Amino acid sequence: MAHFRRVVRGIQLSSRQEKIVKMVKEEGPITGEQIAQALNLTRATLRPDLAILTMTGILDARPRVGYFYRGRIGPPLGELFKEYKVKDFNSVPVVVKDSTSLYDAIVTIFMEDVDTLIVVNEKGFLEGVLSRKDLLKITLGKMDLYKVPVSVMMTRMPNVITVTPEDSIYSAARKLVEHEIDALPVIKPVNDNGKTAFQVVGRLNNTNLVKLLVELSEA
Ligand code: ADP
Repeated sequence: MAHFRRVVRGIQLSSRQEKIVKMVKEEGPITGEQIAQALNLTRATLRPDLAILTMTGILDARPRVGYFYRGRIGPPLGELFKEYKVKDFNSVPVVVKDSTSLYDAIVTIFMEDVDTLIVVNEKGFLEGVLSRKDLLKITLGKMDLYKVPVSVMMTRMPNVITVTPEDSIYSAARKLVEHEIDALPVIKPVNDNGKTAFQVVGRLNNTNLVKLLVELSEA
């Protein structure tokens, strides 16, 4: 979370600058002279702080009126989304083996409180994904929940849409929207006996993005 705050705010204010912002917010408009007096400092000492605060747009200065608070001006949301990386916001992946029964998959969905399960092969490499609707389909047929493995119902490789930890949040969000899916396995390609396999290192879903939006709105 500390990392998140640093990224969101973009600039770090010194404790003196924070004090000035608080004072102007509560008492503004207030002159530089008055701020200096309240902090027991000279006007000259304060000058660089006031310059930074007005340059960043946090404070505004009007001649003969003084300083008043404008707010923290950060980069636009779109810029942040392109800058933020999947690895900073993804969750722990919830995986099941491809031989897991549909019954156990349903239990896992409830136990782990997830919408999408990531399916791996016996070596732990990405094999497919299984959503709630995939599981709901079982109710239409006469399959034996205890015997049929998830591999029968899952969406399998190479059709699984994935992201890497270094991908931007924007590109991940785009994939979720374009493919009308709820979750993306976060993967790292590895060499498996001369073939490329995909290690599952995380999952990124709609909830991660909504949480990020809420954090950004409150930052
Ligand atoms: P739900 O089934 O709850 O609506 P989704 O919209 O995520 O959830 O899934 C819709 C379909 O897309 C399912 O058949 C599922 O297997 C598939 N799916 C889900 N996630 C992915 C993904 N990352 N890549 C490819 N297909 C996916």
